[in-house]
Amino acid sequence: MQTLKGIAASPGVVIGPAFVYTQPKLDIPEGTITADRLDAEVAAFQAGRLRAEAGLQALVERVRAEKGDDLAGVFEGHLEILMDEEFEAQILAQIRENHLCALAAVRAGVEAQRQEFLALDDEYLRERADDLADIGRRLLYATAGVEFASLDDHPDHAIIIARDLTPSDTAQLDPARVAGFAVETGGRTSHTAIMARTLELPAVVGCVGILDAVTMGDLIAIDGRSGDVVIAPDASTEAAYRTRRAAFLADREVMLALAALPATTTDGETTMLGVNIGTPADAEASLPWNPDGVGLYRSEFLFMDRPGLPSEDEQFKAYASVVKAMKGKPVVLRTLDVGGDKPVAAVPFPHEDNPFLGWRGVRMCLYKEEGNQDILRTQLRAALRAAADGEMWIMYPMISSYEEVVAVKELLAQTQQELKAAGKRYGEVKTGIMIETPGAAMIADKLAEIVDFFSIGSNDLTQYTLAADRGNERVSRCYQTFHPAVWHLVSAVIHAGRTHKIPVGMCGELAGIEEAALPLLGLGLDEFSMSAQSLPRIKRIIRAASMEEAKACARAVLDARTAEEAFAAASSAMKAVLSRT
Ligand code: PEP
Ligand code: MG
Repeated sequence: MQTLKGIAASPGVVIGPAFVYTQPKLDIPEGTITADRLDAEVAAFQAGRLRAEAGLQALVERVRAEKGDDLAGVFEGHLEILMDEEFEAQILAQIRENHLCALAAVRAGVEAQRQEFLALDDEYLRERADDLADIGRRLLYATAGVEFASLDDHPDHAIIIARDLTPSDTAQLDPARVAGFAVETGGRTSHTAIMARTLELPAVVGCVGILDAVTMGDLIAIDGRSGDVVIAPDASTEAAYRTRRAAFLADREVMLALAALPATTTDGETTMLGVNIGTPADAEASLPWNPDGVGLYRSEFLFMDRPGLPSEDEQFKAYASVVKAMKGKPVVLRTLDVGGDKPVAAVPFPHEDNPFLGWRGVRMCLYKEEGNQDILRTQLRAALRAAADGEMWIMYPMISSYEEVVAVKELLAQTQQELKAAGKRYGEVKTGIMIETPGAAMIADKLAEIVDFFSIGSNDLTQYTLAADRGNERVSRCYQTFHPAVWHLVSAVIHAGRTHKIPVGMCGELAGIEEAALPLLGLGLDEFSMSAQSLPRIKRIIRAASMEEAKACARAVLDARTAEEAFAAASSAMKAVLSRT
């Protein structure tokens, strides 16, 4: 038995077999090949296709034995697509007609096929477009002759162990089949950790040494609240984890029962509690937790893990389905926020020494010389069209100057004009910005004059204020969410919002931390947005407190010298109000 300590990333206690996931990097040559290479590249593709077929066949059989015919059918569907003649012809044409090498041809052929599926009227076939990303990955590796464990190849209720999982890897995990994960890298607010909370998947990140310590199939127990990971637990430890798990599940039921109640203080102030989502499926999954709206829709997940960009129609369908699912409650759609730890294949990202300080968020979409304004225009068109079906608010990430806000507003106005001129149906939207750079926080009073709402991105605001990378486990001790500097900025932003009578929300992870609920309420935050399962925990605290208590707690936090002092003040105030429930 061995115990490791990582960073608690997503609550839940699970026990299961380890599935060690390693994915080597593939180099896909750019450019065209000479005519004499064509036959060899065709042969390489055909051999890869047969290897991928054998791998998928084995997966179908394993899943059938473990989970039955229904789930095996999903992978049988993958097999059908893989071996489909038209699909094969798409890739062969990329080699023979476009003179691409086998690997580049697979990448291009998969995307062409995906677009074809998306254009179809048949709902079932349109949904198969999502499967193509997985099939394409399997085919690419098989064509390169590189062995890798696909994320789908794990046994039932496995605990995934990896050096790193990308946010899109995490988004694809099926909570019905995966018990949880523990990875070497990342911090509590890395996007992988955020996705795990959205999926309600117990997870530990920043667990240094885990890859060396675990072998495939080891029994693993993880506690996503404490960050504990036990490898090959002895009988009594295993029993203790089973008890912890039962307690966690019982508590979840109590929390679900709170969902129907409003977030109203004892003296009658009601606060909005929204949910953070990455996909339309997250919006559906959040409904039992009864959110007051979507406080952050991270649209970038639609752009990740695919070779091309989503079309306007594909985006429209996703946004409209979220807006409809929320039935008139506001949906805050954040425009594409990539760069940093979220690259997208369709946008060539130059190497940057400091990607978090670089070409990220709205900068990537706005800076004309890079020619990416069309990406934002397409997204805005899709969002404005979806706004006709409900309450849509559009929000821009990584704003660091007044001029950027003026520029995005201009783009929005132009897009509205275009839709109007084309006679297209679209709806009204509110325009807001994320306050996640200290620069934006310091000029919040000026920015408040030209937008309809603010949402504080405490994850980035903390990393930029304290100069501590949110995903780097080595500096996680410097990344102090309760650092008084962060709270002074938060306070100034809320104050600016109040002065200009625009609502101020927070959609960073701080909004879902229980100890932060009272001081944020006391500072006057209008909306808290977080992962769905955190909602009742925050609601319970708000319902137990008065505004006077919350304001006193906020003053104590602002008065602290250190993060430790601030946290202690917030924590004891929280315990005091909860002790009365
Ligand atoms: C934030 O920075 O707080 C935020 C909500 O945005 P993201 O975590 O997606 O960077
Ligand atoms: Mg951010």
